[in-house]
Amino acid sequence: MPTAALPATPPQTLATPGAAMHALMARLYPICRSITGNGVRETLAVVQEHLPELQVHEVPSGTPALDWTVPSEWNIRDAWVKNAAGERVIDFQKHNLHVLQYSTPVRGWFSRAELEEHLFSLPQQPDLIPYRTSYYQPNWGFCLNQNQREQLQDEYYEVCIDSTLDEAGSLTYGELVLPGTTEEEVLLSCHCCHPSLANDNLSGLAVAVFLMQELARQPRRYTYRLVLGPGTIGSIVWLSRNPEAVQHIRHGLVLTLLGGPGAFTYKQSRRATAEVDRAAWLVLREFGAPHEIRPWLPYGYDERQYCSPGFNLPVGCLSRTPFGEFAEYHTSADNLDFVRPEQLTESLQLAEALCAALEANRTYRNLSPYGEPQLGRRGLYKGVGGGQEGADWQMALLWLLNLADGSHSLLDVAEQSGLALPLLHRAARALETAALLQPL
Ligand code: ZN
Repeated sequence: MPTAALPATPPQTLATPGAAMHALMARLYPICRSITGNGVRETLAVVQEHLPELQVHEVPSGTPALDWTVPSEWNIRDAWVKNAAGERVIDFQKHNLHVLQYSTPVRGWFSRAELEEHLFSLPQQPDLIPYRTSYYQPNWGFCLNQNQREQLQDEYYEVCIDSTLDEAGSLTYGELVLPGTTEEEVLLSCHCCHPSLANDNLSGLAVAVFLMQELARQPRRYTYRLVLGPGTIGSIVWLSRNPEAVQHIRHGLVLTLLGGPGAFTYKQSRRATAEVDRAAWLVLREFGAPHEIRPWLPYGYDERQYCSPGFNLPVGCLSRTPFGEFAEYHTSADNLDFVRPEQLTESLQLAEALCAALEANRTYRNLSPYGEPQLGRRGLYKGVGGGQEGADWQMALLWLLNLADGSHSLLDVAEQSGLALPLLHRAARALETAALLQPL
């Protein structure tokens, strides 16, 4: 058999979820997203290739939403700063982080001192371009690395920002509902408003897309709703337009920063002891990866809106290293090299385990509560080897039978027994089959 040269990347690599998520991010990375505009539309169109049922909603600029108003739609075609010789010394075409997001259009010559007022760089990280926005205060500006900034020695520069702020535009968000056997909902939410940044926010989006694909393949008790919108204003708009759906939300997760290195971080909902908070605690305990649980804080991502006191929804936030706590955050170093397929895979597995825990968390009633039922007679010890596995199985059966009084959920049993939730779930199904337990 002739031996062909091996490809550099084995073809099966893309078949791993991490590689496929990374490939999706690589497609989305160059798009200049913002809180409105064509970048969000283009992004959602790519997501629709993976989730064809994703609905795209357009909400006109000027629409009131809770205490906010949908802003004018921002689009940008080009932006540059030219030196006296006519050379582009700052060029949006090279990196879309070079433009202050929501920059108003501008064209003309400016002195270096005037231009300096509109430049943003990071003296402590002189090689990186910062990400800056000015959504709600009209301004224009350029972001550049400190080294590049120090080379600007001409007296005058020509500036062009070819952008539009359209009062007759709209805000775009995506939404996908996967019906379950009940109307009770799990809300999954990601912001999709950052330009060329990978961990923030494309990693959350990629994990959410693949999580929805996986959930679609499984039987579901819950209805799952994915909302992909711009940060803050997107969730505010969604909340303002969906009072009916809000009533059905039983659990929720904001997914973000899931592709970088670092320990998992779960930020509790405002309720702190909501089912999703307790499930996250248990799943992270069982998952085996380094992690941290953090208390509620009224700062962060869209959980701020879902957990505002009027809604007070049970929505936590799942990430790896939180925002602002890694050097690459909101800079050009948050790129496709910073996010790794294996980290994305692990994040997806954790999110799946969390959804599985919510699905599994039932409350049971023991149908033979007077004395312990005779398990051996019902073959419930069969097929289980000795050792720790067998001992855990036996303890799972005993804990379930003992706490299944109609007021303890599987999470309660897992917390009290220290046993793993998937084991308890299997044991509960075995007891159900043996007509010893009945779910409420
Ligand atoms: Zn961000």
